This record gives sequence, C-alpha cells and structure tokens, in this order.
Amino acid sequence: MESIYFNEEHHLFRESLRGFLKKEVVPHIEKWEKTGTIERFIWEKFGEMGYFGLAYPEEYGGMDLDLFYTVILLEELQRINSGGFAAAIWAHAYLAMTHINKEGNHDIKERYLAPSITGEKIGCLCITEPFGGSDVAGMRTTAVKKGDKYIINGSKTFITNGVYSDYLVVAAKTTPELGNKGISIFVIDRDMPGVSATKLDKLGWRASDTGEIAFDNVEVPVENLMGEENMGFPYIMQHFALERLIMGINAHARSEFAIEYTLQYMSEREAFGRTIDRFQALRHTMSDLATEVEICKTFNYTVAYRLNNKEYVVKEASMSKLQSTKVADNVIYQCLQMLGGYGYIEEYPLARLLRDSRLGPIGGGTSEILREIIAKMIIDGKDYKPVT
Ligand SMILES: Cc1cc2nc3c(=O)[nH]c(=O)nc-3n(C[C@H](O)[C@H](O)[C@H](O)COP(=O)(O)OP(=O)(O)OC[C@H]3O[C@@H](n4cnc5c(N)ncnc54)[C@H](O)[C@@H]3O)c2cc1C
Repeated sequence: MESIYFNEEHHLFRESLRGFLKKEVVPHIEKWEKTGTIERFIWEKFGEMGYFGLAYPEEYGGMDLDLFYTVILLEELQRINSGGFAAAIWAHAYLAMTHINKEGNHDIKERYLAPSITGEKIGCLCITEPFGGSDVAGMRTTAVKKGDKYIINGSKTFITNGVYSDYLVVAAKTTPELGNKGISIFVIDRDMPGVSATKLDKLGWRASDTGEIAFDNVEVPVENLMGEENMGFPYIMQHFALERLIMGINAHARSEFAIEYTLQYMSEREAFGRTIDRFQALRHTMSDLATEVEICKTFNYTVAYRLNNKEYVVKEASMSKLQSTKVADNVIYQCLQMLGGYGYIEEYPLARLLRDSRLGPIGGGTSEILREIIAKMIIDGKDYKPVT
C-alpha cells in the first residue's frame, strides 16, 4: 500500500532521516524533556540537512518536494518518542513557515523564510488567546495603524516555541468591529520592545516550550503585515487543513510506534509459563488496535495525496485529526496496559506517549470544533473555499 505513495527516493530519504535522528537527536531527548529547552545546535543541523525546506521554494533555499517527504518527516519524528521535540520542529516548519510562505511578500520571505529554512531563525504561530482558542474570531489582540506602524496590544497563550523562537506570526484585529473579517496577520521580531513571554508548565510535550505572550504597545512596521489587511481569518482557516492533517499523521505514526514497541515487549514478557502474546484476550485487543491504526493511516495518506494535488480538503483533514487522535489515545492507553506496571514507569516509552498523545484532541482545533466543521459540511451543505 505504501508504494502507491512512496517511491525509492522517499524510502532512501526515510532511511537517512531515521539515521540522522538516531545519531543527532535521540541522545539529547531525555535532557530536553527535563529542561523543556531544545538546544540551538539541533535547529541548525536540521537546517543544514534541508529538513526545514522540504516543502518550500528553491528560491529561498528550500527543495520544493512533494508532501510525502513531509509525511515521512512527521512519521519519523513520532518514532523517537518526544511529542514535544516533534511539535517544536513542525510548529516552526509548518505553522509559522506556512504563513510566511503563503502570505509573505518577497522581502518578508528573504528576511524570515530563508533563515527559517537554514535553521538560523525559529518561528511560532500565535492565534490562541487566554480568553479563548476555539472561537478564533473572538480574539481581542488589536493592531491599530498609526503612520507607518501598527501598534499591537493584547496577549496570546499556549504558543509552541513561544518563548525561544526568534519571530512570531501573530493574528490581531485591525478592524475589531468586523469580527472575523477584521483580522490580519503580522510577523513580529522577538526583540521588538513590548514583547514578553512566560513559559507554561504542562502535562506532556515537555521538551517543547509553550508560552504565554504579551504585546504591550509593540510598534510593528507596516511592511510586517502579511498578505492583505483583514484577510487573516481566511488565511488561518485555509492553513488549518494542513495543520490538522499533520496532527492526524502524527497520531497514526505514534500509534504505530506504540503497537510496534508493545508487540515486541509482549513477545518477551512471560506470565503463567508463556509469553503474554499467546493470550487470546491480548492478541484480539492488539488486532483491533492495529486495524484501527491501519485504517487511519490509509485515510491520512489519501488526504495527503489530495492536498498535494492542491485539493482543498477541509472536511477530510478535520476527519483525519478527529479520528486519528481518538484512535491514538485509545491505542496508547491499551498498549500501556499490556506492559502492566512497567507501562507506568518513565523508563518505558508508554508513559510519555500517553501524556504527549493527550494533546491530540485539543491542540489545533479540539475534537468538538472539528465535529462542528464536519457537521456544517455534511448536514448544512456548507462549502469552504480557499482564499489563495
Ligand atoms: C501544548 C499546547 C500547544 C499549543 N500550541 C499552539 C500554538 O502553537 N499556537 C496557537 O495559536 N495555539 C496553540 N495551542 C492552543 C490550542 O490550539 C487551543 O488550546 C485549542 O484550540 C482550544 O482552545 P482553548 O484551550 O482556549 O479551549 P476553549 O476554546 O476554551 O474550549 C474549552 C472546551 O470547550 C469546547 N468548546 C468550545 N467551543 C465549543 C463549541 N462551539 N461546541 C462544542 N464545544 C466547544 C472545546 O472543545 C473544549 O473542550 C496549543 C495548546 C497546547 C495545550
């Protein structure tokens, strides 16, 4: 089935990436999980290897490759079992950088996209606010135009790479009275006066920094407006399709990793004189889990294929995230059970997997919001159209 989507070059890429992660990343993961800080050198190494540029134009140092290279990057990142490290990488490479690439003009791309591809600059995407994340249109951060500047005031929260990134892609209201038709997107340097960030402590994704950010009269040059004024909401909605598919792919990949590890464990662990993979009750559970994951993976690849062919897959990407994250939570919960007491011990991978997986149905659009989107499309006949 995989060969429908992956050719020989994809396989070689996967092999070399897996080798790279094993050698350059895995030895540091425990430290980064403890400190919540991913050291700078690894960003630069990712840049040197071209991993941040897979999906971006050659003009800015990228490789302009098909989406299945991104699928491989996401899948392999899940296999090293640090949801936080993976999130830091893909939030930079696909949340922040997608906006820079799609809405930024040539000047912005030279200033932010090119150094993002080399790993010199790290980005984050700031949409969620303390007053609410699901209701994007209800955001309160404002950007008031004054001469050749926008003055930005407000706050954002739960921002991945929110503390250690170099620039922030920020949604703010330029015309508040227009609701979702009054939002614009800006790129803001971390060191601009008035920007401050506080790190949040959290259940999982512990290697990544999640920040609450305040903007206090931040004077942003008009050149840092991205795309058209008041078009921010449609831009955000459009890129959600990719973001949600990414989270669906992450979910099937971490489920596969959990199953693989658990089956190996079960083939070695003995109880009542035989290995536990001989017990029918456990065998049937594992069969059910493997079936659910395979179905998610197959669906996710189909959606990736369609997105790669420029189809606007809002419904399918929502379904991908909704279902794959639900399956992942169940798979990981059940796999942990197969390890008995060891499942609960930090030295074994299931404990962290369980914590990290729990964000799946929350971040980037909760399962409830995804059901709302799907309901609008399948019941009310709503048709979403891309803006760019
Ligand atoms: C570790 C982490 C990393 C994150 N990274 C980022 C990031 O990089 N950038 C960013 O912008 N955001 C980020 N987020 C924010 C995330 O996207 C939001 O937490 C999420 O969208 C939900 O928003 P909220 O937390 O404000 O919940 P709320 O919107 O307050 O929702 C609370 C509950 O109410 C439910 N609910 C709300 N509205 C409805 C409705 N209409 N119908 C039914 N139920 C509803 C929700 O589903 C949820 O269960 C991150 C969050 C976390 C925890």
